[in-house]
Amino acid sequence: MDLLPPRRATRQIRLGEVAVGGGAPVSVQSMTTTRTADVEGTLAQVYALAAAGADIVRCTCNEEPAAEGLARIVPRSPVPIVADIHFHHEMAYAALEAGVQGLRLNPGNLRKESEIKQIAAEAGDRGVPIRIGVNAGSLHPDIYKKHGGATPEALVESARIELGYFEDVGFEDVKISVKASSVPLMIAAYRLAADTFDHPLHLGVTEAGPPPAGLLKGTAGIGTLLAEGIGDTIRYSLTADPVEEARAGRRLLETLGLRERKGLDLIACPSCGRAQVDVIAVAKAAEAALEDRNLPVQVAVMGCVVNGPGEARSADLGIAAGRHKGHLFIQGKIVRVVPEEAMVDELVAEAEKLVAEGVAARLAAADAGAEAEAEADRRALLDEKGADPNASEAKIDRIRRRQHQ
Ligand code: SF4
Repeated sequence: MDLLPPRRATRQIRLGEVAVGGGAPVSVQSMTTTRTADVEGTLAQVYALAAAGADIVRCTCNEEPAAEGLARIVPRSPVPIVADIHFHHEMAYAALEAGVQGLRLNPGNLRKESEIKQIAAEAGDRGVPIRIGVNAGSLHPDIYKKHGGATPEALVESARIELGYFEDVGFEDVKISVKASSVPLMIAAYRLAADTFDHPLHLGVTEAGPPPAGLLKGTAGIGTLLAEGIGDTIRYSLTADPVEEARAGRRLLETLGLRERKGLDLIACPSCGRAQVDVIAVAKAAEAALEDRNLPVQVAVMGCVVNGPGEARSADLGIAAGRHKGHLFIQGKIVRVVPEEAMVDELVAEAEKLVAEGVAARLAAADAGAEAEAEADRRALLDEKGADPNASEAKIDRIRRRQHQ
């Protein structure tokens, strides 16, 4: 069942093997932080980003040694490489010569119409798409002045003018971004861009800062737009290891159901007076053990068997504590009861089997007495703590008695 609005219809462009827009899966981008001239260092980061979920990686191409580095990086990269051209149009030709699969131009930085047209014409000859990357912080001064600041209309006008230059030379292989560090501004700008253009949109909140605040800003901006059907490729801009950007992008898309789960999704209850273990410690241990194995499962760690298996029945797999035991469940059904100290190991072992054999086979392999044992533990816990672990009813009684004395 599709619960989100349909994705906005756009044209499609291709960066190497990766399609963007026109119904293609929303892609994740990130950017290297190494000097592009450092070929081995940059490639190591590109591989790390691809492993973390990046579909496309951008590298700076700000000087000739960077362009030379790109010539060596592109053929060995597992994902398409986009060159970010800063202020020098010559670097665009050098990057195209190096074989990059995409260019990013900032209309606020490269301003000469003739140069922009020449770059577009050469990119067109080579079949390389260009992102018009407008940034609220580096708007063309004339546009800034005309609109009285970096407004959504100003950002979109900047993109429209650049697009006009491209169209003059018959170049249409374009995606557009209208980024800002203000989340409300970028949301409004992208909504306007979505109404104005039929080109794919690259979403991002610029200079979002370090996590966790940067992650929240990125998620608020990018997530809001994606939930409205706007956006074809995304980048978190974090002041952090770029691997975190790629991971966050991938996770956001999986969370919204826009990409299939590739890695672990660990959920855990917030814990309460009923918890039978230190849920935070168990969840962290389980996450560390499972993440290493990169299993595409949703795993639940629940503090008690009274409510845990039911509350987490939508998870592929989970474990709930109770009476010094771990109650392992698959889609809410108890399949095995294990000693508490073996909870994490058993959870990991079951996750591996679940991925290898499938849900039906693992449900069929359930221990015969597991459901009954879990039900007995549940009953015993309810008897021990009563149905009201915080003794609220007794407290309410006492309050009432005092009030009516
Ligand atoms: Fe509390 Fe149990 Fe629910 Fe966790 S699963 S929040 S411990 S009732």
